[in-house]
Amino acid sequence: MTNQSILERRERAVPRGVATATPVFAARAENAEIWDVEGKRYVDFAGGIAVLNVGHRHPRVMAAVAEQLDAYTHTAFQVMAYEPYVELAEKLNAIAPVEGEAKTIFFTTGAEATENAVKIARAATGRPGIIAFAGGFHGRTLLSSAMTGKVNPYKKGLGPFPAEIYHIPLPSESSGVTLDQTLKALDFLFAADIEPERIAAFIIEPVQGEGGFHMADPGLFEALDKLRQTYGILIIADEVQTGFARTGKMFGIEHQPVKPDLLTVAKSLAGGFPLSGVIGRAAVMDAIGPGGLGGTYAGSPVAVAAALAVLDVIEEEKLNDRANAIGERIRAAITLAATRNDTVRIANLRGPGAMIAFDVMDQDGNPDGAAAKRVTGAALERGLVVLTCGTLGQTIRILVPLTASDAVLDEGLAVLTDALVAAKEAA
Ligand code: PMP
Repeated sequence: MTNQSILERRERAVPRGVATATPVFAARAENAEIWDVEGKRYVDFAGGIAVLNVGHRHPRVMAAVAEQLDAYTHTAFQVMAYEPYVELAEKLNAIAPVEGEAKTIFFTTGAEATENAVKIARAATGRPGIIAFAGGFHGRTLLSSAMTGKVNPYKKGLGPFPAEIYHIPLPSESSGVTLDQTLKALDFLFAADIEPERIAAFIIEPVQGEGGFHMADPGLFEALDKLRQTYGILIIADEVQTGFARTGKMFGIEHQPVKPDLLTVAKSLAGGFPLSGVIGRAAVMDAIGPGGLGGTYAGSPVAVAAALAVLDVIEEEKLNDRANAIGERIRAAITLAATRNDTVRIANLRGPGAMIAFDVMDQDGNPDGAAAKRVTGAALERGLVVLTCGTLGQTIRILVPLTASDAVLDEGLAVLTDALVAAKEAA
């Protein structure tokens, strides 16, 4: 089997709407390495898009899943519930940065988590409006697409979308939007479209993921907190990409001076198994009556078993500290690459913990998505999987497993540096 032969079959059998960043096919994976069907080895700086903070097939996760497979794989929580689901909820309630008592419900995907957070916020407040941020990403289902703040390719031609979703710009140093501009946009929104008394919640990523690893200005959260106090507008932190030690803290919102009412989690929660959740203040979480929440596969026992192991691994392997150490190593390598004159232009190195990104710029200092694509292409040829993001695809983002060894990390960073040089030569 060759990559090319499967690619041809894939193009005939699978619609192009699900785009794949690489033209190669996985055969096996271990921690921060993947091998394709031709036996070529890659260092993995994508981590299955932020899913593998504990790496591919962490032994603890695999053992927990194997044990669960021997017991039962599915009963449906709504038919006959199981204790590990309750235990995972208890553990997340204990660590979630929310005020007072917390409760947690599980789903399967990140989009389901953000959708259900909206249902819960609407039921708890009796209001329809949701304010999201331009450049944000909350999923690809219709309501979550509506909240996603990027038209192309997520919304173009796909509407109409659910009503009462509004967007304002995200203030952050790297996105170039000031807090003042955001607060003005909010005033305009309240004057032109909807009164604050009809807004149920803000939904915000503590660090925008797909949008370009922009960390929101702390002043924004202070402003949101004031609006919560004045008008009762809830705050939903979408932690799908930032959660579980990626930013050097368990949750990205812990870098900010506010506690959200609801958190959405997915991706690295279950170390490669499909599981998502909404964690929140108990009174808010109980707003919806029996039967209003759930899903046949929601909180799959297999994924729950994996997640319980993931939480142990994060604690035992001190992955918050490790994220900070990895981040420093990445920053040092990219800072060094940026001092050379044989690479594409590098700018705006940013991000907390191991959620690090930088922009690729053209000669005139403008974002250069085409050059960023050349970087990821050259990296793949040299044995590194690394992703772009950002509104123009100009951002290289690193989501390496936090369990990667220094040797594998340094190998990946050396390949990335070579790719930055190759992408300039190919210009
Ligand atoms: N929210 C955020 C912040 C995300 O990064 C993503 C996925 N990239 C989602 C929601 C949607 O998650 P899923 O693809 O599992 O539906």
